[in-house]
Amino acid sequence: MKVVIIGAGVAGLSIGWRLLQAGATVTILDRAQPAHGATWAAAGMLAVTAELEGAHAAERDLALHANALWPGFASEVEQASGVPVGFVRSGALLLAPDAAALDAMRARGPVLDAAGARALVPLLADGIAGGLWAADEAHVDNRRLGEAMTIAYVKAGGALVPQTAAVRIEQKSGAAVCVLTPRHRYHADAFVIAAGAWSGLLGDIPITPVKGEMIALAPPAGAQLPGPVIWGNGVYLVPRDEGGQKLLLVGATMQEAGFDTSLSPDVRDQLRAGAQSLIPALKQWVLADHWAGLRPKSPDGLPLLGPVRSGNIFVASGQFRNGILLAPAIAQLMADMVLGKTKIIPAFDPQRFAPRFV
Ligand SMILES: Cc1cc2nc3c(=O)[nH]c(=O)nc-3n(C[C@H](O)[C@H](O)[C@H](O)COP(=O)(O)OP(=O)(O)OC[C@H]3O[C@@H](n4cnc5c(N)ncnc54)[C@H](O)[C@@H]3O)c2cc1C
Repeated sequence: MKVVIIGAGVAGLSIGWRLLQAGATVTILDRAQPAHGATWAAAGMLAVTAELEGAHAAERDLALHANALWPGFASEVEQASGVPVGFVRSGALLLAPDAAALDAMRARGPVLDAAGARALVPLLADGIAGGLWAADEAHVDNRRLGEAMTIAYVKAGGALVPQTAAVRIEQKSGAAVCVLTPRHRYHADAFVIAAGAWSGLLGDIPITPVKGEMIALAPPAGAQLPGPVIWGNGVYLVPRDEGGQKLLLVGATMQEAGFDTSLSPDVRDQLRAGAQSLIPALKQWVLADHWAGLRPKSPDGLPLLGPVRSGNIFVASGQFRNGILLAPAIAQLMADMVLGKTKIIPAFDPQRFAPRFV
C-alpha cells in the first residue's frame, strides 16, 4: 500500500514509521522542515496526571496506554536513529498553595506535606502546603525526539519531502487520488492529514491553533535543576539536560490568536514571575530562550483520529496539549487503521464533526 502523509511532526513521522515497519510505502510532505512545528515548541512532558484532570475516559485510556508504551518507544527510536531522546521517568509534583487545595488533591493520588515536597525540591518557596506526587509522569526532550524520529523514519526507507506544502487533496468518484502541491501531484492509496494546528486549512476539519509561549532559564554555576516536573501558580517547570547544557523550561500560555506566533515581553515576564513564585532562587537564573508554538485543538478538545467520509483520507490531529505524550499510541492506532487492521475509537471519530474535502 502507498500512503502519503501531510505533516512531518511527531504524529506524521511516527505514523509513517509504523506504516513502513508494516510494509507500506510512505511519503511525508512538510511545508517547512520536519519536526519544527508544535513538536519543536513543546515542553516534552508526558503528563498523565497533571493534564488529565476531568479528562474524557477515552482520552485517559489512550494517554495511560501511551505512557505505558513510552519506555519501549523511546529506546526503539534511540536504537533506530542513534539519537538519545532524553526520556526520564522523573515524576511530577503538583503544588498546593494551601491546606484546602492539598486536601482536595487526596482524591487524585498520594500527597506530600510541605516537608515531603521540600525533600524532593529543596528550594521551594515558603508557604507551599505540599503537593500531589505523580510518580508515573515523565518527560522527553521533544526536539531530540523530532530529530530522532526523522532519522528513524528515513533510515526505515521513508521518503521525506520538506519545503513542500500540500495545497489540496484531489478526489475522483468519491475517493482521494492525490495530494496537490505547488510543484507536483503525489498519488497514493491512502492519505493521512497530520498537519497539526494547520490541519483545518486542508478541508473542513475543525482544528483551531492555540498559541503557547514558553521560556527557558539557565542556572548559575553550581545550581542544580529540580528532579521532578513541578506545577503551580499557573506555570509548569520542566528540567532539561541537553547533554551538559542544563535548562529549566517554564510554560506555557494558552491564547487563541490565529496563527500568530509573535513573542510578548509581558508574557515572558509573567512566566518568569510564576516560576520565581515557586522557587525564589530562580531570580539568579539567566533567561536563555523564549519561543511560541501552536497546539492543534478540536471543538471538544479530543483528538480526531480516523477516516473522513471518503474512506481513504485519514486525520490524525487535535492532540492539543498532549501530542508528545500520545505519540506512540496514536502511531500504532493510525497505522493499524490505515491498513484496515483496527477499528476507530468512537470518541475520536472525526465524523462527529462531519469533515469534508472539496
Ligand atoms: C508551548 C507548547 C507546549 C507543549 N507542551 C507539551 C507537552 O509538554 N507534552 C505534550 O504531550 N504535548 C505538548 N504540546 C502539544 C504538542 O506539541 C502537540 O500536540 C504535538 O506536537 C502535535 O504534533 P503534530 O505532529 O500533530 O503537529 P506539529 O508538530 O505542529 O507538526 C505538524 C507539521 O505539519 C506541517 N504542515 C502543516 N500544514 C502543512 C501542509 N499544508 N503541507 C505540508 N505540511 C504541513 C507543519 O510544517 C508541521 O511540521 C505543547 C505544545 C505547545 C505549543
